[in-house]
Amino acid sequence: MIEPNTLYDVIVVGAGYAGLTATRELLKAEKKVLLLEARDRIGGRVWTQRFDDGTYVDLGGAWVGPTQDRLYALAREFGVETYPTYDEGKSTQYFRGQVKRYKGLIPPLPIGALLSLDAAIKKLNKLSKNVNLAEPWATPKAQHLDSMTLAIWMSRQMRFDVARQFFQVATEAIWAADPAEISLLHALFYTKSCRDLDTLMNIKNGAQEERFVGGAQTIADRLAATFSNQLIFDAAVKAVNHTGEHIHVVTTKGTYTARRVIITVPPVLQSRIDFQPILPAQRAQLIQRMPMGSVWKCYAIYEKPFWREQGLNGLAATPDGHVTVTFDNSPRDGSYGVLMGFVLGNQAKAFSALSEDDRKRSALHSFATFFGTQALNPVRYLDHSFMNEEWSRGCYAGLMGPGVWTTLGPALRQPVGRIHWAGTETSDVWNGYIEGAIRSGERVATEVLMSGE
Ligand SMILES: Cc1cc2nc3c(=O)[nH]c(=O)nc-3n(C[C@H](O)[C@H](O)[C@H](O)COP(=O)(O)OP(=O)(O)OC[C@H]3O[C@@H](n4cnc5c(N)ncnc54)[C@H](O)[C@@H]3O)c2cc1C
Repeated sequence: MIEPNTLYDVIVVGAGYAGLTATRELLKAEKKVLLLEARDRIGGRVWTQRFDDGTYVDLGGAWVGPTQDRLYALAREFGVETYPTYDEGKSTQYFRGQVKRYKGLIPPLPIGALLSLDAAIKKLNKLSKNVNLAEPWATPKAQHLDSMTLAIWMSRQMRFDVARQFFQVATEAIWAADPAEISLLHALFYTKSCRDLDTLMNIKNGAQEERFVGGAQTIADRLAATFSNQLIFDAAVKAVNHTGEHIHVVTTKGTYTARRVIITVPPVLQSRIDFQPILPAQRAQLIQRMPMGSVWKCYAIYEKPFWREQGLNGLAATPDGHVTVTFDNSPRDGSYGVLMGFVLGNQAKAFSALSEDDRKRSALHSFATFFGTQALNPVRYLDHSFMNEEWSRGCYAGLMGPGVWTTLGPALRQPVGRIHWAGTETSDVWNGYIEGAIRSGERVATEVLMSGE
């Protein structure tokens, strides 16, 4: 029960996977906990949109793959099944006006470009092995790696334009950002944090291997239902006053008081909370320098996954147009067909300036180019970007540009007095993913419990 004038042991801000996990761990330890959420729903950057006809799509986080053990454990515990992402048949490549089909992981590029692409992937993987995940700023040659963008490294590494263009498609799909926006050190950190580039890119043995029956929000909903009495919706935190012995958290629903506070909201959004006294310079500067990525998801729902009948797996990649990567996002039983197209990085910013009709026209045109004119007539089309969401302002996650890890990195998890920080951006394993959010929730709960209060 939420009682007025209660002194909580801990207030957790944000009911995404990080906040939900932290709350659960603290409740297990019999702490008095309150979870405050700005939205009117659970899940944060995970949001399953369900329609009256029974169809559903994941507008945010969707996939799960090997080594994401905490997420699999939660799914098992809450009875949510997973199923393989459809990838039987040929993949599609569209380049310079030509559609090409191919089997397996090697795209039909000229041999020189292919070798260059392969060498770049191997080199990035190799470089990432040296990253100190717990303290990226302490990585050998950290200053050098953090002094350049991923784009600069790519231009030095790959002589062939074609290789660079396709490498860019992959990196944009991984970071939802132009490689010119990310520091090389951040790219290496993120790569190692998720095992390697192959894991990040692939379906089989990769981050896109499986999806959740009923959508990725189902687990979060079921988890939150176990402590619905400790949760307040529509309670946007406006200010955190930590001058005295106790911390006062001012929200749109009222003011609540606790001994400790855990903030799980994305770093850029922390800048919008009025901390009194203001945060120490390192923390305040850090959260001004972790912009969110840029991505749209475009969904077309069809009566059936018609591309499968043509021996296609629904996977397409192209450096041309708004939609640069597509996946088959149909439900497990294939009872209807769903194509999902990503619009990423700078294309996502440009896409945001289009009208709804023009976005639809552009996305369906791409789907038809890849899979045939049947794609022009979906039963339903919708698209979504978390860039337009007040309580996310971008996706998939906060990113580090050059110089941020090496100058301000130590402030990322460092508590400020009795204020603790979590969220996927603070995780050194599967940073940027749901798995990273869960692990950050566990880590911060332990941190609070170790504080002895
Ligand atoms: C389009 C897209 C695709 C993705 N694909 C995948 C994928 O396939 N697999 C995967 O693992 N991950 C994916 N991700 C990333 C994944 O969704 C996130 O890493 C994860 O959900 C982050 O969880 P979190 O708890 O750290 O943060 P959030 O989910 O952002 O939770 C923070 C919460 O804080 C709330 N909040 C914000 N400000 C305030 C405030 N002032 N007061 C109170 N509450 C506030 C927010 O409403 C939110 O609920 C994707 C994300 C997006 C958007």
